[in-house]
Amino acid sequence: MKRIILVALAVASVSCSSVKEQNEDCIEAMPVEVRQHVKDFLFDAKRNGKRINLKRLRVELCEHIELPGIGAANGAYFTKSHLIKIDTSGRRWKVAGKALMYHELGHALLKLEHSEDKESIMYYTSVLDLTEQNVDELFR
Ligand SMILES: [Zn+2]
Repeated sequence: MKRIILVALAVASVSCSSVKEQNEDCIEAMPVEVRQHVKDFLFDAKRNGKRINLKRLRVELCEHIELPGIGAANGAYFTKSHLIKIDTSGRRWKVAGKALMYHELGHALLKLEHSEDKESIMYYTSVLDLTEQNVDELFR
């Protein structure tokens, strides 16, 4: 009985906390290397009038992903897991970590597919540079 009450309280407290608080908790649970990028993404989303809920997002760092790419938003389209894997051994992560994170967050949170536009953050290989223009386009 005591356990049921505790579970009920936990559920109630989660549903009472705001999206902002939930997002802060989610960011705290992420690897420290990506936290600032995710915070910046939320800031840019808000600036463009998009509300983002990070509730289901998970970010894992790994080395040498066995996928065509250097980051991967696994399951973003097929499940509700929203798992992003980032290959931290790659050059792309080292020179353009924020752009890579924005690309994967575009898949996982905004449900975006790849773009043919070489200036787009959603171009296949992801761009090296984030500009105000390509960041804003991500949220349109
Ligand atoms: Zn991609």
